[in-house]
Amino acid sequence: MISIIVPCYNEEEALPIFYQECSAVLSSMNEAYELLFVNDGSKDGTLSILKELSETDACVRYLSFSRNFGKESAMFAGFCNAKGDYVAVMDADMQDPPSLLPQMLEILRTGEYDSVATRRVDRAGEPPLRSWFARQFYKLINWISDADIVDGARDFRLMCREMVDAILSMSEYNRFSKGIFGWVGFRTYWLPYENVERVAGQTKWSFWKLFKYAVDGIINFSQTPLSAMFWFGMGMVAISILVLIFLVVRRAVFGDPVAGWASTICVIIFIGGMQTFFLGVMGQYIAKTYMETKHRPHYIVSETNVEEPQKIR
Ligand code: UDP
Ligand code: MG
Repeated sequence: MISIIVPCYNEEEALPIFYQECSAVLSSMNEAYELLFVNDGSKDGTLSILKELSETDACVRYLSFSRNFGKESAMFAGFCNAKGDYVAVMDADMQDPPSLLPQMLEILRTGEYDSVATRRVDRAGEPPLRSWFARQFYKLINWISDADIVDGARDFRLMCREMVDAILSMSEYNRFSKGIFGWVGFRTYWLPYENVERVAGQTKWSFWKLFKYAVDGIINFSQTPLSAMFWFGMGMVAISILVLIFLVVRRAVFGDPVAGWASTICVIIFIGGMQTFFLGVMGQYIAKTYMETKHRPHYIVSETNVEEPQKIR
């Protein structure tokens, strides 16, 4: 069986189109399937559309959250409740073309790969500044973390059961799926495709949200910022000892004409800024640890047609 997990947040416009296209592709594949929609606290008619669909189509299952928990939690809920031997995550806005599914399944069936992931080869239709930041982010995170994350990778991928179980075993609260998929390993086939614009509705990602997402990704998958701070501190101490020796010698040889007020202030402001920034970085890690230790549920289901909905923790 194939499970398709679809996180939906305010997708009333795109959902009927997605359902039509996706179920057409799936039924043409002659495989048993389920469409597992996760309503992530939508404020529009998404839930009632899902209920209607589930009444007419036995392959449609849905979980509805009590509020908006974010796409990461929605995907996790999907993984917890998917029953398929193959599991895919797809966006509801048709940016992940269902027409790729037969090809993806064929690649998995050869047994050479455990997952087929998609990456878009262009960033057409995206503001240039956003593309530039995105590319820098991928360079940076691949350099400083051991999760290997491909530029342009989408969350759209078809996975075998073993990989899904591995993902479920990572029950961390701060989830960064792009990193988790890379971290669990397995043999991944990368399927390139041309970027598709969303069919209806609005993207939920502002530039600022994306920026925060990038910072979260780095904090979740790398300790390099912490060790960079350590080494920077060591470097500053070494330099200051050298400067101190130089000053003492200069004082002994040339006396002490008071000068250099501006440069002193510059150095003080620089060090002060660095210290505050470093405290901030440490704060980020502490905040993550704090959230992890609370062991809060990843999501709360208020309505569903899934029998015995699963949740980790
Ligand atoms: N989504 C969600 N919860 C959120 C935000 C988004 O479940 O808080 C879903 C959304 O309905 C869509 C998918 O995640 O199916 C991707 O969202 P979007 O298309 O806005 O992101 P983009 O494709 O622009 O990166
Ligand atoms: Mg989208």
